[in-house]
Amino acid sequence: MAEASPLREGRAAGRGEHGADAGERSRARGADAAGRGWLASIGDALVSVFFPAGCRICDELLTSASRVPICGACLASFVPVPQPACEVCGRPLPAFVNEPASVRDEGRALLCPACRDKTYAFERARSFAVYEGALAQAILLLKYEQIEPLGAWFAERLAEVVKEQGSALAADVVVPVPLHRQRERERGYNQAALLSKPLAKRLGLPHKAVLLMRTRARPEKQILTLEERWESVRGAFATRPGSQVDNLRVLLLDDVLTTGATLDACARALLEAGAKSVVGLTVARAARNPLPSSSEW
Ligand SMILES: [Zn+2]
Ligand SMILES: [Zn+2]
Repeated sequence: MAEASPLREGRAAGRGEHGADAGERSRARGADAAGRGWLASIGDALVSVFFPAGCRICDELLTSASRVPICGACLASFVPVPQPACEVCGRPLPAFVNEPASVRDEGRALLCPACRDKTYAFERARSFAVYEGALAQAILLLKYEQIEPLGAWFAERLAEVVKEQGSALAADVVVPVPLHRQRERERGYNQAALLSKPLAKRLGLPHKAVLLMRTRARPEKQILTLEERWESVRGAFATRPGSQVDNLRVLLLDDVLTTGATLDACARALLEAGAKSVVGLTVARAARNPLPSSSEW
């Protein structure tokens, strides 16, 4: 999804090693290294090639040989999507634990109100963890700083989700939710492809980044209401002329699922072009957000 985050301006302004706090960190490291002699400073210099700063979320010094610029504690703080969840869209349904048996009958699908209304064109959607805290910050790093090792780390987690779900997420091809070409030109990359490419490799499936295109850019203004979110993506995607999707089961990748409107719009375009089915997979899922039929809750 391309929805703007309230943190966006701040992060975008203080991007990467050019950010103001990065300078402070390296000055602090310099002073520290001087106290431990030249050998230590060579060690630090080597480390700094791979870890130009501390953990990009909590600033703790990175000690592992991972290229992911986030410490183990922050990575371990990501919260799995709570269960029970809607069998179609994967939305957590904690309230349903106490629902009447009619809703949770054995053998009957546990569905959120939106999926009971058949809101989504995708067959199923799943996510790695809840969009909050450290994960929300990690997503911003992926989105605005193109940290490929982080994309690969998330892809490993997503491959585990695919494995857990078994046939429910079976697919023939992996496709990232596309950015509008003007947005991709400005940014230089599509953050969803930072996930989908390593995931496709892990799953041994073809990666088709050019299958879908976003034909209408999202509005520049911050999207506030649910209606605006749906309106901003309705009919905004199409398959690229000449691309083959006939009878394919498509696994669609995105960074965050908020309302499901983006995955829905992509799924509609793919199904219209002849895809057999579409399933969605995102790193994060907004746990608290309005539903299409939220008035019913
Ligand atoms: Zn950390
Ligand atoms: Zn649902």
